[in-house]
Amino acid sequence: MNYKNQYQRKAHREVDFIFLTLLPQAGLSVREEQVKLSHQMLDALLEGNIALCDAGVGIGKTYAYLVACILMRKYVAATGNGWLCDKRPIVISTSSIALQEAIIQEYIPFLSDVFLSAGLIGSPLKAIVRKGKEHFVCDERLGVRLEAVREKPKNELQKKALFSLKQIYDMDEVPNLSSFDRRLVCVPKFCPKECPGRTSCRYQMYLKQARDPDIFFQICNHNYLLADSSHRAKDYKPLLTDYRALIVDEAHKLPEAARQMYGKSLCYEDILEICYFLEREHQGMAAKKLKSVFHNLFHVVRENYMAKGGPASAFHMTEECATVLEEGKALLKELTGKLRGVAPG
Ligand code: SF4
Repeated sequence: MNYKNQYQRKAHREVDFIFLTLLPQAGLSVREEQVKLSHQMLDALLEGNIALCDAGVGIGKTYAYLVACILMRKYVAATGNGWLCDKRPIVISTSSIALQEAIIQEYIPFLSDVFLSAGLIGSPLKAIVRKGKEHFVCDERLGVRLEAVREKPKNELQKKALFSLKQIYDMDEVPNLSSFDRRLVCVPKFCPKECPGRTSCRYQMYLKQARDPDIFFQICNHNYLLADSSHRAKDYKPLLTDYRALIVDEAHKLPEAARQMYGKSLCYEDILEICYFLEREHQGMAAKKLKSVFHNLFHVVRENYMAKGGPASAFHMTEECATVLEEGKALLKELTGKLRGVAPG
């Protein structure tokens, strides 16, 4: 490979040393695809590019990008691209909680120990999981709720779970917590200015920790990443600390997360409800047409879906599906236009 400078060459030599010598000594096996992927990602990170990588199952992609990120931090200052004092973290976005937990509880501590012992890094690697307010306990609200249930009869397991929140502030780690309690004690959308916890509650401490420049990896799920992008696009306060690089792991799940967040769903019951309101407004003909077109649409789409293997398969847009969808869309547009015309005023 033709690397731009000696530091980049050194960083790549270190990738080889890590995957071919250091990690095998620590019990991991050598996987050529993994080494190749790590080199590819390191190049993209050092040069500020985008890399689209297709990592096959079992090649160890997580170690590949973690190593590339760690070496980027180590060598980026020397490559002359102006990030000398860059303290911004790397954001890793994943789809599954299991992967997030594995990264924070296994992968990063393991690499940190191995690299520290080998003298490749000077201090332990730090990481934090970022997630929405609704996952964390508000100390003020918890205090009120505990007082309210203290002497009251309540399911023992649920009560125990509620009281355990005095020690554990991440509610995802507490089994048996009722969704009612969860809603009552989670961090509110807006913390009141006069709240005494503003400087000392556990949630504020968590936020302070998340802003610590020593935390190199910030790990979140795709929904949180998308919510952060949306905040930035609207000039709201970002959710994530400004980051210098972004790794989107399990990227094939990103479109689904985007659909969940920004998409709208329409089922046949919704159409029947619209028809009901149309009939009430003496638009019986329009309601009849809408019912018939959408009955056909859902039938065709469903038949096509089942023929391709049902829920386990991806949706295929056949010509027939496209035609009925277009027909439904055109009818809705026509009715919307017409109703605007008949609306009073
Ligand atoms: S600052 Fe917010 S999260 Fe903390 S105790 Fe007050 S209301 Fe709850």
